[in-house]
Amino acid sequence: MRIVIVGAGIGGLVTALSLEAAGFRDIRVVERVRELRPLGVGINLLPHAVRELTELGLAELVAGIGVAPSRLAYFNRHGQPIWSEPRGLDAGYHWPQLSVHRGEFQMLLLREVERRLGVGTVQQGLRLASVDDGDPDVATARFVDAAGDDVVLEADVLVGADGIHSALRAQRYPDEGAPPWNGLILWRGTAIVPEYLDGRTMIMAGDGEQKFVAYPLSAPDAAAGMSRVNFIAERRAPEGATALSDWNRPVDPEPIVELFAGWRFDWLDVPLVIASAEGILEYPMVDRDPIPSWTSGRTILLGDAAHAMYPNGSNGASQAILDARTLAHRIATEPSVEAALAAYEADRRPATARLLEMTRRLGPEQVMQLAYERAPQGFADVHDVIPRDELERIARDYKVAAGFDPAGLNERSSLSVPTVAAPERA
Ligand SMILES: Cc1cc2nc3c(=O)[nH]c(=O)nc-3n(C[C@H](O)[C@H](O)[C@H](O)COP(=O)(O)OP(=O)(O)OC[C@H]3O[C@@H](n4cnc5c(N)ncnc54)[C@H](O)[C@@H]3O)c2cc1C
Repeated sequence: MRIVIVGAGIGGLVTALSLEAAGFRDIRVVERVRELRPLGVGINLLPHAVRELTELGLAELVAGIGVAPSRLAYFNRHGQPIWSEPRGLDAGYHWPQLSVHRGEFQMLLLREVERRLGVGTVQQGLRLASVDDGDPDVATARFVDAAGDDVVLEADVLVGADGIHSALRAQRYPDEGAPPWNGLILWRGTAIVPEYLDGRTMIMAGDGEQKFVAYPLSAPDAAAGMSRVNFIAERRAPEGATALSDWNRPVDPEPIVELFAGWRFDWLDVPLVIASAEGILEYPMVDRDPIPSWTSGRTILLGDAAHAMYPNGSNGASQAILDARTLAHRIATEPSVEAALAAYEADRRPATARLLEMTRRLGPEQVMQLAYERAPQGFADVHDVIPRDELERIARDYKVAAGFDPAGLNERSSLSVPTVAAPERA
């Protein structure tokens, strides 16, 4: 079976690895940029995604570039604690949560694709321009190379893993336009700063109007107690501002330090973290509306191309990984390609639409907004403001919707395809 994957982001590369593990060999990944570089800042791989990476034999490699957070803790904008919970193994999962640098993770996946499927599997510098999906048995894709020449590829399955500005999705939904923006701006960066709390805690402070998120990307060095921390500072943009959703737009840290000037807590100096940034990238809080179908002929959408969502809940990369593993499992185990694409879409589209809806309502971070609405000046004890069972319910509901409640995940059957049932598939 000829499989063409458009986009060598996290979703596309994990799809290639998952298909290889399921016995497929005729796989090409086609990427627009001429040379992939380790771009982006930190992302979180939640236990459900780490389970899939583990089953792909990548656990040690990925753990080697990341940090497993011990806890997730929410605070209000005065630095007072709202909710805190153990994460990963400490929360009873069989798999850890891992915080990694997106670009380093993408390069690791690229190396593994080339090692397992051969150098040349990932063709860079080819941009998907259009797809003929009218034939029920084959998709014909037209790419444009750096010289402006056309390259035409035929595929039995064409996977559109080409991100939030997906060309495949735009062809199918031409009136969709730019991703909708909720008016918040994110400033993302990394900084080498003194260790805070236990050195492995992911923190979120603030509310729906202004927020600061931080988590370590490296263990503190023993001598100086400094670690590399990823942060996201978030604030509502002024009335009338416009959004440019480019993942790599650098900005000056100074005005952002000013916005957070009062956020010096006894457990973390937020302005110091921002001022120490190795670089800051600006990105608007955008997502995509759910769409009625991901499949057309032999083409299928995956990852951000299918369901870009706000980073509330740290689920973008993890959901792309779940898509990839589900798609490979279905293609390997369903009786026909049509049945496989339909089953994948049935597994993943309603689930991600529900999650998308939850992220628009702030996902698990709604506890911060509730604390703000009920006690804008702060509180002596959070349970005077939000009862413990309400806090527990919000945390639990999100995990169930995102597919990573501990019991459900630990007991769920594997998406791996037994190799005896999946010898080399033509
Ligand atoms: C440069 C970059 C930096 C990012 N940084 C962050 C970050 O710091 N934090 C965060 O939370 N998320 C970041 N993201 C998004 C994050 O990677 C995704 O939300 C998530 O991992 C899902 O991945 P994906 O593979 O679906 O999409 P993406 O990771 O966006 O990958 C899509 C890939 O498709 C390629 N592509 C796009 N159009 C075409 C085309 N027409 N033809 C061929 N190839 C095409 C892109 O170049 C890209 O490599 C970033 C994405 C990119 C592309």
